[in-house]
Amino acid sequence: MSAPGIAGLHLVRFGTAADQGYFLDAFAGTYDQIVVNANMIAHMPAAMAGFLAVRAKKPFFIDPQTIAFQHEVDHLLSTSKKSAGEIKRSWKRIIQCYGNPIAQALNPESPRPILPDDFKDDKECRAFCGRVTDFQNDELSNEFKTGEDAAYVQFLAQEAGVKELVPPSLIVAPYFFLNASFFDQWLDVNLRCLEFTRAALQKQGNKKPLAAQLVISQEVLLTDKLREKLIAAYRNSKAKPDVFLLWIDSFTEQELSVGELASYVALVEGLASDGRAVVNLYGGFFSVAAARFGVLKKKLMGVCHGLEYGESKPVVPISGGVPVAKYYVPAIHARLSSRVAARVIRQLGGFKTVEAFRQRVCDCAACRSVIKKDPLKEFSEFTETKISTFWRSGKRVSMEFPTARTSDNCTQHYMWRRYREYTEATTLKEVCKSLRDGFDRLKTPVGLEFVGHFAIWPEALQGAD
Ligand SMILES: [Zn+2]
Repeated sequence: MSAPGIAGLHLVRFGTAADQGYFLDAFAGTYDQIVVNANMIAHMPAAMAGFLAVRAKKPFFIDPQTIAFQHEVDHLLSTSKKSAGEIKRSWKRIIQCYGNPIAQALNPESPRPILPDDFKDDKECRAFCGRVTDFQNDELSNEFKTGEDAAYVQFLAQEAGVKELVPPSLIVAPYFFLNASFFDQWLDVNLRCLEFTRAALQKQGNKKPLAAQLVISQEVLLTDKLREKLIAAYRNSKAKPDVFLLWIDSFTEQELSVGELASYVALVEGLASDGRAVVNLYGGFFSVAAARFGVLKKKLMGVCHGLEYGESKPVVPISGGVPVAKYYVPAIHARLSSRVAARVIRQLGGFKTVEAFRQRVCDCAACRSVIKKDPLKEFSEFTETKISTFWRSGKRVSMEFPTARTSDNCTQHYMWRRYREYTEATTLKEVCKSLRDGFDRLKTPVGLEFVGHFAIWPEALQGAD
């Protein structure tokens, strides 16, 4: 199953430099494609060129993150002592590459969020779309030719027998968040950016597929009129995007009603109705099952997730969050805090013996290497935390963090389990039956907050008919 520019159903988003290990070696075969943020490319271009072209050798595309300039500018600013309050170096590089109207709004003296009005000049907007396209096409391959570390990147490539950098598998047009309040204004900007990007590709003779990224609030999704307007606008667009990349604000599949899931299904169906591919950029087990054998088969062609907090994501960046290690409980298809995860595993009888843990909880490579004698005791290797003390705004603060080993164990286990969800031999009937059985068994001991979706998903997976 694939679509133009989409290598397979399973996409993984590369978040930070520390993620590299989960894309290589034993994990290399567990996913189809990598999604990289523009700010990672700008932050460490030589390392990313080496990683993508030489070490991972997987299809990838770059998210141009133009949406980042639409929010309050705080999240673009550095917090390090030396340059506190200045725009971060990686964002500066992106602003420099993308140029106006972003450079004008984000000027270093008094940066401000961009507005729809900033895009009203067609000529300037057209040139902007050309530069965003060039960034995706050239920023990495330039590292091979003229980047500061070109010799190093070339050396890595030579060692690995790689002749040239693998180019991104598709180009994403500049895009901005659509909520109900300024829906028409931003929709107009998005559609013009899409057309100008198509024109830029044609002018360059670039045959790469063009993707439209749709980032919408839940209100846009759930309001029939807005959802239908969105679908019609893109269907009528002359640019005819080959792929839709969908990001619904904080859309956590486990928390949705049948009606909300039906709206999601209707949106994907509407966008895919011309035979075009849709990819959900932040999806969980519901999306995977719907795409493999449920109501979105042959419509939803890719489901992406990150390594942490990966199955849903708020559009407006939140700062000051504390990392929390969560164990992905396969029986629930959700990441749970250590206390709740332990309660569910106890209910499943998973702490009784090593065999019971493997059968009822997980037998992946990570769990096999941790759970060897005493599941109850050894499970702490997925939950251990340590207290760290540091300075924040002139005050000494202490906080609890997962240990490096805890995070590593949780992430490895998560990658193995997601891989299984994308590939294991099963059917819609079997999935629905196991969800319903799980609901009956766990609703009393665990509660509806954590297993309610088991009653809802089967209905939504099978669609209205
Ligand atoms: Zn496991």
